[in-house]
Parts: sequence; C-alpha cells; structure tokens
Amino acid sequence: MKICNVIADLHKDILFCAKNFIKKSDLFFEYFADIYKKGKKMAQYVAKIIILGSGPAGYTAAIYAARAGLNPCLISGFDVGGQLTMSANIENFPGFPLGISGAELMEKMRQQAINMGVTIINDKINEVDLLSSPFILSSENGNCFKTQSLIISTGASAKWLNYEAHKKYIGHGLSTCATCDGFFYKNKVVAVVGGGNSAAEEALYLTNFAAKVVLIHRRGELRADKVLQQRLFENPKVEFQWNNVIDEILGEKNVSAVVLKNVLTDEKKKLDVDGVFLAIGYKPNTDIFKKYLTCDVDGFIITKPNSTQTNIEGVFAAGDVKNSAYQQAVVAAGSGAMAAMEAQRYLSNTTQK
Ligand code: NAP
Repeated sequence: MKICNVIADLHKDILFCAKNFIKKSDLFFEYFADIYKKGKKMAQYVAKIIILGSGPAGYTAAIYAARAGLNPCLISGFDVGGQLTMSANIENFPGFPLGISGAELMEKMRQQAINMGVTIINDKINEVDLLSSPFILSSENGNCFKTQSLIISTGASAKWLNYEAHKKYIGHGLSTCATCDGFFYKNKVVAVVGGGNSAAEEALYLTNFAAKVVLIHRRGELRADKVLQQRLFENPKVEFQWNNVIDEILGEKNVSAVVLKNVLTDEKKKLDVDGVFLAIGYKPNTDIFKKYLTCDVDGFIITKPNSTQTNIEGVFAAGDVKNSAYQQAVVAAGSGAMAAMEAQRYLSNTTQK
C-alpha cells in the first residue's frame, strides 16, 4: 500500500509497470523517493531476466521466458517493433499465406507478449555494467535496471552512404525507408541503391507510387532472392544502373540529381532524380556492449556455436544483433526462443549453486 502511494505521482507508463511488478512475487519494484537526478525521479527495477529490443527476437524471447515463469521485463527501445515495421509486405514468415505487413506482424507479437504477462517498458538503455552481479542497466529516461540475466536483441540500423556529406538531404529526398517515405514520390523519379533483398523490396514498393525507379548497384548482378529479381526485371517502371555508385548528391535544399560513377571505367554522369533510397545493409546496435562483449569486425556480437551465449555468463544475444549468415525475421524469432531457453537453464543452475 505504501509503495503504491509513493509511486502514485509517477509517469503513467512507469505506474503501469510498477503495478505489474508488484503483482509478481519474484520481481521487485523499488522506488527511491529521495533519488533525484537532474530534477528527475529515478525508478529502480530488479528482475530475473531483462530483454532488450522489440523485434521478432525480443518478443519471442519474452514470450518463451514468460511461459517459463520467469516474469520477463522487455525494454522496447524507442523504435518499437524494430526494422521489420518498415517492411510493407512480408511473404516469408510462416503462418501468413497472403503475406503480412511488418507493422502488423510486430503488433501481433507485442500483443502476444502482453497476453503472456510480459512487462513492456518503453525506454532505451544507454549504459550497461556487465561486470557487476546482478547486471546494471541505465536508461535514457533515467531509470536503473538490475537483472540476473540479460538477452540482447537490439537488432541493427540501416547504413548511410557518406553520412556527413549527405545528412542535409535526410528528410529532403534522402531516405532509408521506402515504406515510410515512398508515398511522397507519386509520379516522380527515384533511385534505390543496393542489390540485396532490401533494395529489391524497396524498389518494387516504390513502383506503386513513382513514375520510374532506377536501381543503382555497384556490381553487375543482384544478391537479392531470385523471386524478387524476377519481379524487378519484369517491372517496366524499373531501370538498372549496373556497376555504378553514387559519387555525389545534388540539390539546393531537396535532392534533384545524383552523380553516378561507373566503378569499372571511372566515368561519371548526372542522373536527375527526386529521391534517393539507400538499402545497403545494416549496422548492429551494439555500441554500448562492445566494451564487454566479443564482437566481429562489423560489430555483431559473437556467440558460442549453436548457442546465444556470449562471452559473459548470463548474457545472451539473439536476432540480427549477433553475427549470423541468416538475417531473417523467422531466424531472429528462433534465436529469441533459444536465448530464453538458455537463460532459463542458466538461472536454474545459478539458483541451485
Ligand atoms: P545486404 O544483403 O547486405 O545487401 C546490401 C547491398 O548493398 C548489397 O547488394 C551490397 O552490394 C550493397 N552495398 C553495401 N555497401 C554498399 C556501398 N557502400 N555502396 C554501394 N552498395 C553497397 O543487405 P539487405 O538487403 O539490407 O539485407 C540484410 C539481410 O536481411 C539479408 O540477409 C537479407 O536476405 C535479409 N532481408 C530479407 C528480406 C526477406 O527475406 N523478405 C527482406 C529484406 C532483407 P554487394 O552485393 O556488392 O555486396
């Protein structure tokens, strides 16, 4: 009762989480009324298992952990649902014979996690201490979390080309998300950069709006799945600029053209476009963990073979944040399930010791 009075003036979402935590016998919510940081009240949470990220890996891990009776807490990050929310139509996630939009799929996973009793907190972790026991996590909203085990499923973010030189065009014709911005290019000419599945999907999606879509690829063949390649080749709105890269983006305030450079001949030419969509891969969201966890040269977390276990006991990595040749939603969901099962085993072993 006392605790409830203390928390009554907290922000609505923290209050919601607090109520959920209090209900659960092995998860404690502590609020220190006398702790103020920069004039802001801080909440401190203690959990058996915390999951970072709200993509398919995070939600699946949370669902499995909840079913194992671990009362998981999932910290969603501020881009709830992750990269998949930007996919207009997902045709290869089993169970949806007519395909499903990424946003809808992620909303269904979120709802399923809530139904299982997962506590979801809309916050973003910006600092971790993985050498302490329990692990300590600090958030952008000024909260502090302590946990016995941690599942990192923070995913990856779209890469930019020459970010410093091009950043003035972001929101003015330069984008990494056709689903978000494609609508603004009705009857216009747009360029898509890249040769993978993302580039193919973005280009095909943009043909719904644009008069012409020019696919710029640095090689002479695509790496996208054959079915997507075929759709691109058959679409009369799609043109290709093979063996070319963007040397420069032009435009006063908004993008008006790009300078292409042929990588075989070094020949340059100007191409008038109204928008440029980059689809050149992803960079893992691992900056805050690199101090503690073994990562590959690109920053993806390395886990033990056939496992989600990182080099720190009790810390697991699942989904696109870990190095894997299979960056697919269904694989991410599978590795989320693995991480929860491995965390459960870890927790029961440490409790028995
Ligand atoms: P990706 O497969 O790594 O492809 C990136 C593309 O960008 C490649 O064609 C690459 O060229 C090109 N590229 C990279 N850096 C570049 C640069 N600096 N300048 C110009 N071009 C550059 O990335 P993705 O397409 O985002 O896909 C990531 C993962 O998600 C993949 O495993 C993919 O299969 C998966 N995915 C799956 C689906 C689906 O199944 N529906 C949809 C989207 C993504 P090169 O080919 O020469 O290396």
